[in-house]
Amino acid sequence: MKILSVNAGSSSLKFTLFEMPAKEVIASGVFEKIGLGDSFYTIKYSGEKLRKEKNLFDHSIAVNTLIEELISLQIISSLEEIEGVGHRIVHGGSEFLESVIMNEELVQKLALCNDLAPLHNPAHIMGIKAFMGAMPNTPQICVFDTAFHSTMKEKEYLYPLPYEWYEKYQVRKYGFHGTSHRFITKTLSEYLNRNDLKIISCHIGNGGSVTAIDSNKVVDTSMGFTPLAGIMMGTRCGDIDASILSYVSKKTGKNLDELTNDLNKASGLLGVSGISSDSRDVEQAAEEGNPRAILAQEMYAQKIANYIAMYNNLLNGADVIAFTAGVGENSKHMRELVISKIASLGVKIDVSKNDFRGEFRLITSDDSKIPVYVVPTDEELMIAIDTMNLVLNNN
Ligand code: ADP
Repeated sequence: MKILSVNAGSSSLKFTLFEMPAKEVIASGVFEKIGLGDSFYTIKYSGEKLRKEKNLFDHSIAVNTLIEELISLQIISSLEEIEGVGHRIVHGGSEFLESVIMNEELVQKLALCNDLAPLHNPAHIMGIKAFMGAMPNTPQICVFDTAFHSTMKEKEYLYPLPYEWYEKYQVRKYGFHGTSHRFITKTLSEYLNRNDLKIISCHIGNGGSVTAIDSNKVVDTSMGFTPLAGIMMGTRCGDIDASILSYVSKKTGKNLDELTNDLNKASGLLGVSGISSDSRDVEQAAEEGNPRAILAQEMYAQKIANYIAMYNNLLNGADVIAFTAGVGENSKHMRELVISKIASLGVKIDVSKNDFRGEFRLITSDDSKIPVYVVPTDEELMIAIDTMNLVLNNN
């Protein structure tokens, strides 16, 4: 069966078409600058790459164009071949605790989470509505970044703030990258043939989060009410003292929104290094001896190591640690630096095993107390798996 995995942003729409259950990618692509005038799209299929410019006035035009192209490129022969569409949704609030088949009523319920993710959820809803309009007989499934974290207990997800902020305004930790952490958990559980693994999953990309998992359930995760919290990231600061905001506001005259924007977009690797948010650029500058790049890398690795040590304690000893996402999968240097900072846990890297990028591999020596794996993540595939399962169960 063919399943379409979709990630709709405010001005973009990414898709991957899978043959399931074979997990084979038939086509993938992205529609960019939707509603911005100079829009275009690219589609990759059977070794070909198509790029076209077209005025994509809104998401429904992008979706209709996608369907027309899939048929005219003979990737599918009719729309009915696609048996389900899975949508990535950043925020499911406290309402959506697992993937669901959408209907009009649930779309309205999802819209109630818009305040919690104002940059993402309204765009996802535009995507869902566009597909519902173009493919009214095809099940539309939503897969939430927050859902995997819904097993966190109150003592983990509550902030030590006035309790009524939680009761009245839903201020609590939600966690993100859940679809990725769930994929890592599934992959390691299947590979090691165990359902009771205690895993520390480190998703280190442009955004980053560390999650503690016990027996397939999240115990705690580093991101919080928003993706701003936790470890240091490409442009986000991670955990900081909240009083900095009022202090810098008084010093600079910037308001809260402007400062929050700085915490999200001008901090992290970019803020400290002053060079780039891209870890490759920072790595290169560090190799050339740039002191702020070296400092940024040291801080970046230390924050990840601190979370690993904290979660090892929370889990009462982890069985396995995993690195994933852009940096985790590709930067042997960053993996080595992080592991050097958790030596007290008895974790020992094998430098020769660590010398690669982008594959599933064990990178620790035989006498390492906790094995560390690199596990390439695949959120699109995880969305397609959920979509397939819900479609099959619904028939
Ligand atoms: P996003 O959070 O946007 O999905 P990714 O998971 O794609 O981000 O990660 C992007 C990060 O991965 C960038 O900082 C990039 O520099 C880093 N990255 C990709 N390839 C390499 C590499 N070969 N070496 C070091 N870092 C890499």
